[in-house]
Amino acid sequence: MAAQTSEITTYQNYIGGEWVDAASGETSENRDPATGELIGLFPRSGAEDVNRAVAAARKAFDGWRLTPAPKRGEILYRVGQLLAERKEEIARALTREMGKVLVEARGDVQEGVDMAFYMAGEGRRLFGSIVPSELPNKAAYGVRDPLGVVACITPWNFPVAIPSWKTMAALIAGNTVVLKPATDTPNSARLLVQVYADAGLPPGVLNLVCGTGSEVGTPLVQHPDVAGISFTGSNEVGREVNVEAARQFKRVTLELGGKNAIIVMDDADLELAVDGIVWSAFGTTGQRCTAASRLIVQKGVRAELEQRLLERATKLRLGPGLEETTDVGPLISRSQRDRVHSYMAVARDEGARILTGGEIATDGDLAQGNFYTPTLLGDVRPGMRVEQEEIFGPVLSIIEVETLAEAIAVNNNTRYGLSSSIFTNNINAAQTAMRDLTTGIVYINAGTIGAEIQLPFGGTRGTGNGHREAGLGALEFFTEWKAIYIDYSGRLQRAQIDA
Ligand code: NAD
Repeated sequence: MAAQTSEITTYQNYIGGEWVDAASGETSENRDPATGELIGLFPRSGAEDVNRAVAAARKAFDGWRLTPAPKRGEILYRVGQLLAERKEEIARALTREMGKVLVEARGDVQEGVDMAFYMAGEGRRLFGSIVPSELPNKAAYGVRDPLGVVACITPWNFPVAIPSWKTMAALIAGNTVVLKPATDTPNSARLLVQVYADAGLPPGVLNLVCGTGSEVGTPLVQHPDVAGISFTGSNEVGREVNVEAARQFKRVTLELGGKNAIIVMDDADLELAVDGIVWSAFGTTGQRCTAASRLIVQKGVRAELEQRLLERATKLRLGPGLEETTDVGPLISRSQRDRVHSYMAVARDEGARILTGGEIATDGDLAQGNFYTPTLLGDVRPGMRVEQEEIFGPVLSIIEVETLAEAIAVNNNTRYGLSSSIFTNNINAAQTAMRDLTTGIVYINAGTIGAEIQLPFGGTRGTGNGHREAGLGALEFFTEWKAIYIDYSGRLQRAQIDA
């Protein structure tokens, strides 16, 4: 699976149960975003590799589809056990290639463990429906069939959790899979796939093809033997994937961007709110689809909350995620760092104030990585670009409002609809918020992050196309309903006609 020459390791794709080079023999570098160090070389695959992987998945499909779901579940259970045993090793590798602090990387792997056990259990359920027939001596029921070969295309920000969520749900339902990880995080996906291999997953059931969106993602989406696509990433790419898939009437789930807000009411427990805001805005360096990038605060506590946040934000320590003293790791890439920084000029032009941060961090060793200072923007008004656009970095916009109704309106008025939260001790305000916040996830007295895998995950409006990941929603995506009628009357009975 890997060859080492003069300290540089070259890794491979996983196709048909074997670790293989890209057909072209070409590779791409994978670097640590905190230090710039080379982690290894990964296959720069193309359409030929996609064709091979899809063919392998297709070949494996009947065997896997006909493997009893509880037996499929047993393999997933073993995957969960192995992931738990290797949690520390995988978390360290994940931090090295993605940058998030180690404690969060462990959480990323833990999501894989949780999902493995959850979906393993689904192997003994996969509930269908049994309903009465309108005709005598006739049985009627609905069962779930797998789609066939499915593509899982994943981003870099949860490099173990998101591939786990997708592949585990796809596999328990009886699909075979081609996984295309983000170009920045192939190593985490490789380690996950190795776990599957070691857990005894049959050859071809799960295949890994590393490479870019245009060279691997596009041919995968276009491949006529790929029946469904589970995509998580940006809105721009999600739209392209959706359009391509529509040409062949393929099923697609899109989990896209967010512009999530925390509302803080005058009556809130401010200490708790500060903890929730700092964790949601600056955890994972703001690179979560559920990160809080807006704080909507009621007028009476705005000044005090701003002051408390300033104190906390300026104390956050930047550094490599593997160092225990680090609170905030690097951004994934130099281009992402520069993109985040470009929003500071936008903020100033629109009349916002940079209360703290707003700078590329270059002190000492930080210059080697893609570090950005945790940033608070004051005087932000609804409609400004920094209030509307996904920045995907450690930047929090503070918006003052007068009332709960105004707070809810500001929260709901974006093109995204993933996660929202409210801090209040007023039960009526909390109930109203639960009813009127139009996001797929709502938190009361907690930040905007921290989803659990047994609940549906996804968003409204531009955050997706109406599907949900995790929980039972994932099975809805990865299965086709088949209605079955069994007539044991011994004569022709016509529905709607023979009463
Ligand atoms: P991205 O859209 O750039 O890439 C996502 C994946 O798509 C990568 O594997 C990429 O190589 C691939 N890709 C690129 N072009 C493609 C094409 N034409 N056809 C097929 N595949 C293609 O996103 P990213 O930068 O990796 O991730 C960050 C984005 O992901 C943010 O917008 C974030 O909000 C979003 N995200 C959403 C969720 C969610 O569940 N809603 C979760 C995590 C991240």
